[in-house]
Amino acid sequence: MIKPCLTPCLAGLLAFSTVTSADLVVLQYHHVSPITPASTSTSPSLFERQLETVERLDLEVVPLDSGTRDALAGKLEDRQQVAITFDDAYESVWEVAAPILQERDYPFTVFVNTDAIGQSGYMTWEQLETWAEDPNVLIANHTEDHGHLPQKPDESDDDWQERINASLDNAQETLKERLGTSLPLFAYPYGEFDDKTEAAVAERDWLGYGQHSGAIGESSNTTRLPRFPMATAFGQLNTLQNKLRSRALPLDQDIQPSGVLQENPPKLELTLAEELEPGKLTCFATGKGRIEVESQGELSQTVHVQAPSSFIDRRVRYNCTYALGDGSYYWYSHQWTDLSRVED
Ligand SMILES: [Zn+2]
Repeated sequence: MIKPCLTPCLAGLLAFSTVTSADLVVLQYHHVSPITPASTSTSPSLFERQLETVERLDLEVVPLDSGTRDALAGKLEDRQQVAITFDDAYESVWEVAAPILQERDYPFTVFVNTDAIGQSGYMTWEQLETWAEDPNVLIANHTEDHGHLPQKPDESDDDWQERINASLDNAQETLKERLGTSLPLFAYPYGEFDDKTEAAVAERDWLGYGQHSGAIGESSNTTRLPRFPMATAFGQLNTLQNKLRSRALPLDQDIQPSGVLQENPPKLELTLAEELEPGKLTCFATGKGRIEVESQGELSQTVHVQAPSSFIDRRVRYNCTYALGDGSYYWYSHQWTDLSRVED
């Protein structure tokens, strides 16, 4: 429904003026290989075509740390930027992805779960040492043991605290000792976090990256920064352009829900920025397609989003987009972890 234009169409002017600004889009990869598990793999040919799309759109590929800080500070103006990240330091990143990126002189980040390095299928410390000297590569923290970080239902506060401190700080220490690097960048294994884990990341003054889609802009929360998963099932070229040109949905940060599922199906309440029209928001849920966006009245900027039936997955996502009219979209998503479901 079209809302009446109240104060002389100020909303329309503001909406138009925001179209010229830009945000940071972070791409998230695991393996770049045709033979590793499909759910976490991008085929080498698709990877190359994705990079060709980045090139064709004339986007700037930037290091994750400076790109994120510039986007959070609203410094990008009309320069839409992209950062490329790999989780887990699999051997195909060294063997297949890196040579393709180096040919283009594109910077990238590898999030390392330190216990796995040197094991079969993973990179070695010698390879990481080579990258530690390369100004185009950032090596960052993905925990020591790749555990599920939210507090488990049967875990005491003390046990959780001890586990999280060890997992986060030992990894940071190991990266510093072995590679001389200590970046304030952290990726949650499986994209799972709860309030306490976010607080642990904030206490350390780190930026926390998840696995929920969306762009990073001034309104983004520093402990739940979005990345677009780029495995073959998600990274197809027909939707890539919209993702690469997407921008962070402007909303009120204070009302974002916890990363842990409290009710099933979860309810998402969003209060959109003043210049947006709530009726233009479109949302989808994991495995359920498009779901209803319920407006809270003509003069309200608040909407409720809830899937019609419950989920059986450990991780549930709602993805919402808002067409800007120039072919680009505001993008917002939220991931919940259902702690009653078995860890994978
Ligand atoms: Zn991982």
